[in-house]
Amino acid sequence: MQDSFSRRISYLRLSVTGRCSFDCMYCTGGASQKCVPAELESSEIISLARGAAAAGCSRIRLTGGEPLERRDIAEICRGIAEIPEVSELALTTNGLRLSEYVTDLKSAGVGCINISLDTVNPGVFRKITGRDCLDRVLTGLDDAVSAGFRSVKINTVLLHGLNDDGHSIRELAELACRYSVDLRFIELMPVARNDFSYRKYFSDKSAVFRALPELMPCPEDDAGSGVAKMFRISGASGRIGVISPVTDKFCRSCNRIRITSDGKLRPCLLSPVEYSLRGLAVEDIERKIRLCVEHKPQEHSLAPDPEQTERHGQIRLTMQRIGG
Ligand code: SAM
Repeated sequence: MQDSFSRRISYLRLSVTGRCSFDCMYCTGGASQKCVPAELESSEIISLARGAAAAGCSRIRLTGGEPLERRDIAEICRGIAEIPEVSELALTTNGLRLSEYVTDLKSAGVGCINISLDTVNPGVFRKITGRDCLDRVLTGLDDAVSAGFRSVKINTVLLHGLNDDGHSIRELAELACRYSVDLRFIELMPVARNDFSYRKYFSDKSAVFRALPELMPCPEDDAGSGVAKMFRISGASGRIGVISPVTDKFCRSCNRIRITSDGKLRPCLLSPVEYSLRGLAVEDIERKIRLCVEHKPQEHSLAPDPEQTERHGQIRLTMQRIGG
């Protein structure tokens, strides 16, 4: 399916719940855990995936909230993996319950797992997530790597004063030396509807290059990581990536749409426009997605200067509902 700017839309990020076991300071700010919207039945989620797949989304990523907080997550994965048009099923998790679910997810047809991990320092982990369980996440990572998924990636949001100093970045990069995984550093986006201080914690991609001057760019055709710019470290089996939605807009190559945990289609992460898909039959979901994709904005309004973003009235939304 193509939008009105000739971009091919083939990637759906589907949020399966607004509930989360973590309370990450930049995502929920503690506020939205209390007002999580009612979530969809597994059959409704599978119908949404069918409609999106029929419209042209061959890659589907399940997100949340925390997808592994749903007891029926393996059933949802199996239902989606069986859709003939779906060539890749992926899941993004905070890793807390990954060890418990690794076998079920693999046999249900999940090919790619992304683990969100912002630090390997237990105290900083507690400060960011509100939970004291770094060990369980690291065991989850270990188990996911051993299970043999097609790909395991680690996503790290850069946070000034918490994980953007040379030591913290090198400690994280060490994971890409120990495991054959892509570790991607992501710039913080000003999106949480809470009192979290974006200006205080935003750190741009240059922190990564200062900490790891030895990074060697991967050739374009080898990068294979979508919006991330990928790099190698000599002697490491894994790779380092940098995703910079704030300092480099990549709207021109955007290929994705999102569906929120309450069944609303969001053509652009950072535009407030949403269309309800709830209660529609698969054919109608497909038709509505095709129609709405025609209205996908050309680009988002996220400005590199956070103050400018404030002035332009950037909408305050929670990633917890949209799924990042
Ligand atoms: N619970 C799952 C997890 O932790 O991966 C899935 C949902 S979480 C909202 C998805 C991703 O969004 C996480 O990697 C998280 O770090 C990222 N995220 C949340 N808020 C963000 C923000 N303001 N800027 C950049 N990334 C953000």
